[in-house]
Order: sequence, then C-alpha cells, then structure tokens
Amino acid sequence: PVAEPARADPAVTNWTSLTRGGGEVRIQGVSKSFGPLKVLDDVSLTVPPGSVTVILGQSGSGKSTLLRSINHLERVDDGFVAIDGELIGYRQDGDTLYELKEKDILKRRVDVGMVFQNFNLFPHLTALENVIEAPIVVRGASREEAAARARELLARVGLSEKADVYPRQLSGGQQQRVAIARALALRPKVLLFDEPTSALDPELVGEVLDVIKELARSGTTLIIVTHEIGFAREVADRVVFMEQGRILETGAPEAVFNAPEHPRTREFLAKVL
Ligand code: ADP
Ligand code: MG
Repeated sequence: PVAEPARADPAVTNWTSLTRGGGEVRIQGVSKSFGPLKVLDDVSLTVPPGSVTVILGQSGSGKSTLLRSINHLERVDDGFVAIDGELIGYRQDGDTLYELKEKDILKRRVDVGMVFQNFNLFPHLTALENVIEAPIVVRGASREEAAARARELLARVGLSEKADVYPRQLSGGQQQRVAIARALALRPKVLLFDEPTSALDPELVGEVLDVIKELARSGTTLIIVTHEIGFAREVADRVVFMEQGRILETGAPEAVFNAPEHPRTREFLAKVL
C-alpha cells in the first residue's frame, strides 16, 4: 500500500531515483518579442541544481513565456538557455547557433518536464496511458516497461487506484497529480510548473502543493510560477520577481517577502499577501 503523498514517509517515497540529478538551468540574456511587444527583456538567471525557484509577478509580466523558453516551446530572439551546460533547442557551431530539428529538440527536451495550469492531459487516454505516452513515443520504451514505471509514479502521487480512469473522471487535483506523474515519466533533471494550482478549487490546492513539496525535498530542480506565497516561503530557495519582461528582484524568500527592495515588488506583495 502506498501512503498519500501528504503523509508519506520520506524513506518510502524516494523521489531521487525518479529523476536524474544535475539540473542546473542557465538563462543568459534572453529576449523575446511578439510583434512589437517585448515580453522578455534581457533576462538572465542561473538556477543551481537541486534548488527550488519561485517566480512571481503580475499577469502579463512574461512568466509563462520565460518558462516556455526554458524547454524551447518558445523560440527566443536573443540569448540562450542551457541545462547542465547543454543547449536545448540549438547546437553551437563556432559563434553561431543553429536550431535543431524538431525530433532532436524532442530528444533534448526529456531533461525538462513541464506541468501546466490546466493540466493538459490527453482526454481520450487513461491516467496510465497519459503517463506512458512520452516514454514510448520519445524514448522507444516498451509498453510493459513504461507501464511499470507509470504505476510507480502514479503510486507516488497517491493515485494507484486511478490508473485506468479517464481525466474527466478525476477531480482537478487528481488530474494535476497525473500531470505531475506524466512530467516525471522521462526522468527529467528539471521540472517547470506554470501556476499548477491556479485552476483548482481551493480545497484541492493542498494535495497538489504537497506533491510538489515532496519533489522539492528530493533534490529535483524546480522552477515554479505561483501566487501561493505561503508555499513559496516554505519551499523556495529563491524567489524571483518579474515585471514587464524583466527580473526586478531576486532573493531568499525571507528577504523578498519581509523586506522587498523594489517598490514594485512591495506593491505586488501587498496585493497577493
Ligand atoms: P504571464 O505568464 O506572466 O502572465 P505571459 O508570458 O503569458 O505572461 O505573457 C506576457 C505577454 O506576452 C502578455 O502581454 C501576453 O499577452 C503576451 N503573449 C504571450 N504569448 C503570446 C503569443 N503567443 N502571441 C502574442 N502575445 C503573446
Ligand atoms: Mg502565465
């Protein structure tokens, strides 16, 4: 029997074996425009392996675009992102970067798992099928091998009993936990969360945050966009505040929350706290 993650014994839930360690994320001079709108403006940030970074900022400040740039879901106009020193969407030849072909990007992207606000599960696939899809398609795993690991992952997020049900039969919190299991299926070095609890009814937020807290303790590199300040205080090693495509302030949670340096950070926190 597997304990619910909220009450799991850390010795039982050994997440470390589920990911691959490493996971330094280096964002260097990244800029991105949509037409005339500059959405990311020379963003640089280095996230140490195994650390937890929470990104804050009001709607439209570029948080999602920054996350999407990390795994090359968004092609940046300038700068680059490297995971453990390796570019995801490009190969370097001398001073020139060449974009990789889609199938090579998919292979590189296994380093980075992503969890979205609206879960984005495949509605026509069961929970288990959602989790085994990528290992089979991207890694060429056998169905048996992928299913064994998927059952293990579903157990870790407290959903052993739900392997064979469809997303519509699950609560939002359960769907998001399936999405987390799916994001772990390729053994990523880094997990990105884009407002993972914003679409949930308040009473379902805790069960998802508990799973993320477990992951945070496991040494997986996490980058999390969220407005859950209490959660950020508890798990973040570093908080990053964005506005208009720029990083205005970064620091330890105590520093940023108790004594924000930038007036805009103070204004933002006054609204969300
Ligand atoms: P956040 O996640 O902080 O709310 P986003 O990164 O989603 O911010 O968006 C930043 C800005 O970029 C917003 O003004 C948004 O409307 C715009 N934007 C995002 N994606 C696109 C797109 N694909 N095309 C045009 N504008 C976009
Ligand atoms: Mg967003």
